[in-house]
Formats: sequence, C-alpha cells, structure tokens
Amino acid sequence: MDFGFSEEQREIRERAAEFADREAAPQAAELDREDRVPFETLEKLADLGFMGLCVSEAYGGAGGDFLSYILMLEELSRADAGLGATLTVHTSAGTIPILKYGTEDQKARWVPELARGEKVGCFALTEPGAGSDAAAITARAERVPGGYRLSGHKQWITNGRIAGTMIVFARTEDGAGGGPTAFVVDAGAEGISFGKHARKMGVISATTDDLLLDGVFVPERDLLGEEGKGLGVALGTLDPGRIGVAAQAVGIAEAAFRYATGYATERRTFGKPIAEHQAIAFKLADMQTGIRAARLLTHEAAWMRDRGERVTEAGARAKLYASETANQVAHEALQTLGGYGYMKDESPIERYYRDARVTEIYEGTSEIQRLVISRGILREHEKALEAPGGVPESRTVVG
Ligand SMILES: Cc1cc2nc3c(=O)[nH]c(=O)nc-3n(C[C@H](O)[C@H](O)[C@H](O)COP(=O)(O)OP(=O)(O)OC[C@H]3O[C@@H](n4cnc5c(N)ncnc54)[C@H](O)[C@@H]3O)c2cc1C
Repeated sequence: MDFGFSEEQREIRERAAEFADREAAPQAAELDREDRVPFETLEKLADLGFMGLCVSEAYGGAGGDFLSYILMLEELSRADAGLGATLTVHTSAGTIPILKYGTEDQKARWVPELARGEKVGCFALTEPGAGSDAAAITARAERVPGGYRLSGHKQWITNGRIAGTMIVFARTEDGAGGGPTAFVVDAGAEGISFGKHARKMGVISATTDDLLLDGVFVPERDLLGEEGKGLGVALGTLDPGRIGVAAQAVGIAEAAFRYATGYATERRTFGKPIAEHQAIAFKLADMQTGIRAARLLTHEAAWMRDRGERVTEAGARAKLYASETANQVAHEALQTLGGYGYMKDESPIERYYRDARVTEIYEGTSEIQRLVISRGILREHEKALEAPGGVPESRTVVG
C-alpha cells in the first residue's frame, strides 16, 4: 500500500523491511524465550541511522520525516515487536520531547548521543499508584542550590536499565504551577538504581524495569519546559508517541496475517487447503481489511504530524484502532492454525498473540484513547455551534 510516498520514504521502508527479515526476525523467538535485549541489533540500527531517523541532521539524526520513522517502526515490529517497543520509546518518548520542549542548550547536549544511538532514551512517568491518572504522581523534586533532588519510585519503565538518558517526571515541593515537572536526567547520576525487572506477557525483548530515585541531583538547566508544566510535556509527548504504538500494532498484525495466510494455503482438511473453506477464507479477508484500515489511520496521523498539525485525536484514533485490530488479527490467526497456533514451538503466532496485547495498554489504554477522541468530538461540536450563525446540527461533526 503506497499512496505517493516520496522516494526517500519508500527507500527507508525497503531498507527497514530488509533489515527486519534478515536480522531481527530470525532471532525474535530466542530473545522472547531468553528475556534478552538485542544490543548488537541496536548497534546495527544505529549504523543505519534508525536510532535517530526523524531527528534533524543538526542534532545528529538522519533528517527523515515522521512518516518515514513510522514506516520503519512497522517493518521492525513485524519482525520483533519488542524491538519496535524499544525503538519507539527511545525516539518518541526519550528523544522527541527534548527537541520539542528543550532549550537550545539541552538539545545540543542531550540529543546527538541519542540520535546516533550512543545512548538509549526512556520516559519515566508511571508509578505504582499512578498510570492513566498521570497527574497523581508522587515522586518529589526538592529544590536545592543549583537545581533539584529527585526521589520516588517509577514503575514499568521501558528501556529503564539500558537507558543512558531519562525523561523523568516529579512534583516540585511547593507544587509551583500545580502539577508535575519534567526533567532530563543522566542515567549515571548518583542515587539512581533499578528495582524489579518486569517479567511480561509480550514484547519481551524490550526491557521493562522499576526505576528508583534517591535524592538524584538534577541541575537547574535540565528542567524540561517549565516548572509545574510537566503534564503538558507528558501529554504532548504521548500524542505523536501513540502513532508509534499504532505502527507497532500494524506490524504485529501484518506478521500474524502473513503467517496465517501461508499456513491456510498449505494445511489441508477434508481434501482441500483450509483457505478453501469459506470460514477460514473470510477470516483472511477480515484480517487484511482491518490491517489496511489501521495502516491508513496510522499514516494519516503521521502525515498530519509532518504537516505540523495537532495529532492528539488522530494519534489516539490510530492507536485505538490499530491496537484493537492487532488483537483481533492475532486471535483469528491463532484460530486459523488451530492447535499449531497455540503451541510455543510450532509457529510464531503464539508470540504475536502475546505481543499484541500490550498495544492496548501502554501510552494510554484503549479507554483513555476513547476519552481523548470523544472529548475532541464534543469540543468540535461546541465550537461549531458557537460559530457565527451556527451550523445545522447534522453538520457539526464531520469525522
Ligand atoms: C509493558 C509496559 C511498558 C510500559 N512502559 C512504560 C514507560 O516506558 N514509561 C511509563 O511511564 N509507563 C510505562 N508503562 C505504564 C503504562 O503507560 C500504564 O500501564 C498505562 O498508562 C495504564 O496505567 P495503569 O496500568 O496504572 O492502569 P490504570 O490507570 O490503573 O487503569 C486500570 C483500568 O482502568 C481504566 N481507566 C482508568 N482511568 C479511566 C477513566 N478515566 N475512564 C475509563 N477507564 C479508565 C484503564 O483503561 C484500565 O482499563 C508501561 C506499561 C507496560 C504494561
């Protein structure tokens, strides 16, 4: 599917697909079994410029656009969804917020190492008592001469223990501005340690760890954005970040669909390939239709991001639809394989089924995406009614 991609976008997608098939796919099952991050693969991705694909060359990146990054993520996630998770958190959540909210000094000091893949990025917002309700975080940032001291417990941080640079959210003591504050933190700073390594259902080749902060000193100049305005930084990061999760979901769905299609043409029951039983053929039809729709929503959101448009709702729509599609597709692909789909060592489908599940949870659950989308609809509706002369009710929501 290609609606007028540029030469560069097409080329990046082909390079990513080739790398995914040659390097990432063959080792994905082993990494999943061994709960291991493929550091060698991350180095190769850095050599290809993929660790900073959509970061401008001025900051050490490859200078590609956001859609190119999304095309690459889909291909890599098709081979190894954990690798897709590592990469999307590194770029969308660990690098882009510094570019978007950072000072010139912060961009120059932190971004090039991330974009060149010399350091991995992470994003530490969630805590044991605060997930969807990010404003409820309790990590503290105590003001001290020259900066802040951060203390608290961050939970389920993707790339946690492999990160070199961290975006950390904590509440300043006097709550200036009434909300959390964002900081860029060097992972080697004194007072940082790691708690539990999460044993997960899927995306296992991405490490997920608890991050413990015990009086970590952060100089004043590494406050990201404004004090008390960290929630805006977090939400502004998650808007495009969700397009990355959508791409990850499309990649998983595509992998499951391709495998199920091949299997259905070979497996025979009652004298013919199961693909010739209409019940199975229709599953393939539904899978393909869902994936193409999910991909279009994902590309639409990425294209809007490249045009500098607001992607709050577009990102939420893409993530919601793509993640639910990935789960449906993985479910039906497994059913297509019957018992062979259920077994760990007979096909990759069981892994895809597990990998798909988290795309409905991280960077905002499906329920939160529906909240974001529905609020957007109502806001537009209100705006249309308030416009001079108003508009007929039937024309206020245009989709
Ligand atoms: C594998 C993995 C990796 C992760 N990586 C990171 C990371 O790198 N950095 C990070 O900061 N966090 C990370 N997270 C945390 C993730 O973002 C949260 O798990 C997610 O935001 C949901 O929060 P929660 O788990 O606390 O669920 P809760 O917020 O407790 O929600 C529980 C249920 O209630 C529903 N719910 C909550 N509020 C509402 C509401 N207002 N309306 C309707 N339904 C509602 C939710 O949709 C969900 O179904 C990761 C999580 C996982 C599983």
